[in-house]
Amino acid sequence: MNPAPAHWIEVAVQTPAHSGVGDLLSYRSALSLQPGQLVRVPLGKREVLGVVWRVDTPDPGLEAAAVREVAACFDGLAPLDAHWRQLMAFAAQYYQRSLGEVALSALPPQLRDLDGGQLARRLKKLGAIDHITVGAAPEPSAEQAHALEQICTQGGPFLLFGSTGSGKTEVYLRAVQQALQAEPEAQALIMVPEINLTPQLEARVRERFGEQAVVSMHSGLTPAQRLKGWLAAHSGAARIVLGTRMAVLASMPKLRLIVVDEEHDPSYKQQEGARYSARDLALYRGQQCGAKVLLGSATPSLESWQHSRPADDTGEPGGRYLRLQMPSRIGAATLPVVRRVDMNHQPRRTVLSAPLVQAIQARVQRGEQSMLLLNRRGYAPVLYCADCGWKSECRHCSAFRVFHKIDRTLRCHHCGATDRVPRACPSCGNADIAPLGRGTEQLEEHLSELLAGVRRPDGQPVRIARIDADTTRLKGALESQLAAVHSGEVDVLVGTQMIAKGHDFRRITLVAAVNPDSALFSSDFRAPERLFALLMQAAGRAGRQAGQGESEMLVQTFHPTHPLFEALKRHDYPAFAASELAERHAASLPPFSHQALLRADAREQSISQGFLTAARQTLEAWLAQEDGGAEVLETVSLYPAVPMSLQKVADVERAQMLIESPSRKQLHRALSRLQDVLHTLRSDPAHKGVIRWLLDVDPQAI
Ligand code: ADP
Ligand code: ZN
Ligand code: ZN
Repeated sequence: MNPAPAHWIEVAVQTPAHSGVGDLLSYRSALSLQPGQLVRVPLGKREVLGVVWRVDTPDPGLEAAAVREVAACFDGLAPLDAHWRQLMAFAAQYYQRSLGEVALSALPPQLRDLDGGQLARRLKKLGAIDHITVGAAPEPSAEQAHALEQICTQGGPFLLFGSTGSGKTEVYLRAVQQALQAEPEAQALIMVPEINLTPQLEARVRERFGEQAVVSMHSGLTPAQRLKGWLAAHSGAARIVLGTRMAVLASMPKLRLIVVDEEHDPSYKQQEGARYSARDLALYRGQQCGAKVLLGSATPSLESWQHSRPADDTGEPGGRYLRLQMPSRIGAATLPVVRRVDMNHQPRRTVLSAPLVQAIQARVQRGEQSMLLLNRRGYAPVLYCADCGWKSECRHCSAFRVFHKIDRTLRCHHCGATDRVPRACPSCGNADIAPLGRGTEQLEEHLSELLAGVRRPDGQPVRIARIDADTTRLKGALESQLAAVHSGEVDVLVGTQMIAKGHDFRRITLVAAVNPDSALFSSDFRAPERLFALLMQAAGRAGRQAGQGESEMLVQTFHPTHPLFEALKRHDYPAFAASELAERHAASLPPFSHQALLRADAREQSISQGFLTAARQTLEAWLAQEDGGAEVLETVSLYPAVPMSLQKVADVERAQMLIESPSRKQLHRALSRLQDVLHTLRSDPAHKGVIRWLLDVDPQAI
């Protein structure tokens, strides 16, 4: 008989979110294992992947027979280092999820299906650490050189505030080069919001540093590619990881620089599971492992803007980040002239105003490109019966089904329910039901009617293209459509915000926002910030080529004197930020307070709200009894439960409760107590109807 295994270890495994199973499970092992090693362990009837978290002395209180044995160990793989483990522990604690869930979801899924031998073969194929070669690079401009010098000599974190086209990407590449050349094994992480929207950046990185040195990490890869990239990063064979938000969780033992491009972009926030902000984790990670962090944007998040404020003469101290400015565009390219078209002076129900149509026509005739932005896909957001007032509501959601003309369907964009368009009003039989409002599909149709007689310089008719989630559903579709725009096969491009992001379109001299007003009066306090960033980005698409004629941006609005548009006209992000921050300060909104959102889902709204109300009352009662609880209650506001603005989705009634505090520490004390409250309430039969709850720390939408 074998002697009883002598080593006791605690292992992080993936357990279901609300199962109540503790974060770490105890096992025994015959081998001596180290923290960070990957193992396979029995869990119930299954065998699962786990990460050794702690190595313990045997617990005399635990019956040896009750503790199961580690099934296998991946000893060919270097342990995940202490920095990585600390990052996981921090993310789990900060975003209020289990350690096992966060740590295991950061590993490539295919690891779960491999045995030690298979893994060893994959590792062997990786090759040695790449000694980078650096391709040709342009001579830095004075602004770029100054920014680089700061990055080289200061500790950071840095906020690179540079106009679109000011050469931020070039600064990232040079900073990466500096970091990698300073140390033979150093690694750099470059994060982008959505990789498929910026294929040019990936191409530039690979061209500069060579295919060998770079791996990509994003959800569009196959499981085998994901695994290969992860192993290359973990082993150090890859010097550069280029990825989306998930890449911030990659194991990179020699990480020395983290770049977060377009740091304001909402897609850095994960919207399910552990709802982490990859930008915020990048800042934590950099500080904790000694890597410099470089955030970049032409329209920084108000949080980063505030954190990078310079010290002022009144003695107010500056923020923690160092702000680096690059106001000028490279070469002679200038920012477009912004013109507001006052829609109050246009005939009622005008979609495209006369000045806009003329501007497009002139571009087509000169052989230049135009881009029209409308943030709503489909043909019309609602179908409507003028006789009885019927509207195309979704049966399952508190939303309208959108009319898609191409296949004559009504589609709910929230639950996916799709029906044929009825021939007559389902409620009164009126045959004349009509679209209300407009989406990109209708805009495209409308444009081709308006421009039917317009000819290009070569005498050919105008070519119009549309890019949105509907036209890019198939794999590769977006890439080929973008390529068509680049190669000049398109004269007028219509699309949603998808087309406003980082594309380096060369020949666009006109950008138009068709109907941007709704965001001005949204209930979400971040809506103006998003709109401003979107419009500035869109403006940045125009006139990137020096030597083109005047480039312009047209904004169709019923509120031409709105301060947001005034600031846009001057390309004045600092003025916009100052006025928004003043409002946020007055209302104690982030970044002047910290928020979390507790959401509950049930079949009935009263059950969702009842659960939240019980959670609030129980938490208050518990805190009132506890040491230090009074302080939490004083500094943390627990707001009443309310229905979410999109109250019902797929027959589920959603409610939310806002939790807010000027003190991050007190907010987190409240949240960790709240977790205990939620688990207690869950077993109460009164709340049996609750389908799920979820907690969003630093939510992006309220
Ligand atoms: P951003 O990322 O700020 O929008 P890019 O880095 O893409 O700007 O630069 C805009 C354009 O200018 C790119 O085509 C880039 O190759 C070019 N560029 C950047 N830096 C320089 C430089 N120092 N000299 C010449 N061209 C440059
Ligand atoms: Zn629906
Ligand atoms: Zn009707």
